[in-house]
Amino acid sequence: MVAATGRPDGAVDGNGPVSCLADGWRTARAATGPAAVADCAEPVRPGQASDGRAAAVRCRLGRGGAVCEGGVEVTVWICRTCGVEQADTTAPPERCPICSDDRQYVGPGGQRWTCTDELVAEGHRGLFEPLEPGLTAVRVEPRVGIGQRGLLLRTSEGSLLWEPPGHLDRDMVARVRAGGGLTAVAASHPHLVGAAVSWAREFGVPFFFAEHDRRWLRRPDPLVRWWSGRAEPVPGLHLVQCGGHFPGSAVLHWAAGADGRGALLVGDTVMVDADLATVSFMRSYPNLIPLPERLVRQIAGRLGELRFDRIYGGFHGSVVDRGGAAAVRYSADRYIGWLRDEITDPDEVR
Ligand SMILES: [Zn+2]
Ligand SMILES: [Zn+2]
Repeated sequence: MVAATGRPDGAVDGNGPVSCLADGWRTARAATGPAAVADCAEPVRPGQASDGRAAAVRCRLGRGGAVCEGGVEVTVWICRTCGVEQADTTAPPERCPICSDDRQYVGPGGQRWTCTDELVAEGHRGLFEPLEPGLTAVRVEPRVGIGQRGLLLRTSEGSLLWEPPGHLDRDMVARVRAGGGLTAVAASHPHLVGAAVSWAREFGVPFFFAEHDRRWLRRPDPLVRWWSGRAEPVPGLHLVQCGGHFPGSAVLHWAAGADGRGALLVGDTVMVDADLATVSFMRSYPNLIPLPERLVRQIAGRLGELRFDRIYGGFHGSVVDRGGAAAVRYSADRYIGWLRDEITDPDEVR
């Protein structure tokens, strides 16, 4: 019996912590102890950083990566491999639980951490690309972590940032603010959370995270809004829990998308295939672990209740432009056919 979580090789901690201090960023790869505790030039009263967004903004974007809690400087650690923010601490965790799970991986150099200031210094920046009226992709180049594209969805009722990138800088925040700001932030599942809490704090809006995946939330915050089944973070935009990849894995249904034919934003809950005409369903994509028939049927069944024609995947260029509902049905039948050994390769000799 193979355990559902944990890696046979264990986590490797190849580098010391990266420390972001008040005077700017610096690396301390040889350090083994916690990062230095520094007084903040703009001291924040205890408790203010956890719900006082203005203070957090100055610390995060003015001095990158650092948030001050009662005069003690802590860092918003970002895992290099998955790009997911961790809890605010002086030293980073020993390992990233998300990357140590069998659905992900620890990079070849071992567990490595970064922070916003370091990413800024390295030249990472946001790219905004319109996809259709109301929908804009928000990517980071060079990529951070898994490299998903955020999808910024604007309606007359509000704006949602889906699958937030693992990085935000002043320019990205200014562009989102200039377009009307945000009403909510949401992610399909724990891999594509990125810097969701930082985005939520920046705009003072809730971050919707599935209750069923509660143990995978890496950066607790009062702005986290737990949900299950269905939720409507912005009127007309519905989170629909499908499960599969993670029990809480969700899609976002935008009924008015694709010129009114309906659009789905799917993350890894459904993977748009390279042919841009079919989709797949997996427990792990990088490690190629399939799902059982029961869960494929569950996903297809929940999507079968929705009206949609277009499917936006989680990565640059991944979209099923038309016929999305039929593509899900066909792909689920094909997947189950192979699982049941009901499909035979015509070249195979049995
Ligand atoms: Zn990670
Ligand atoms: Zn995933």
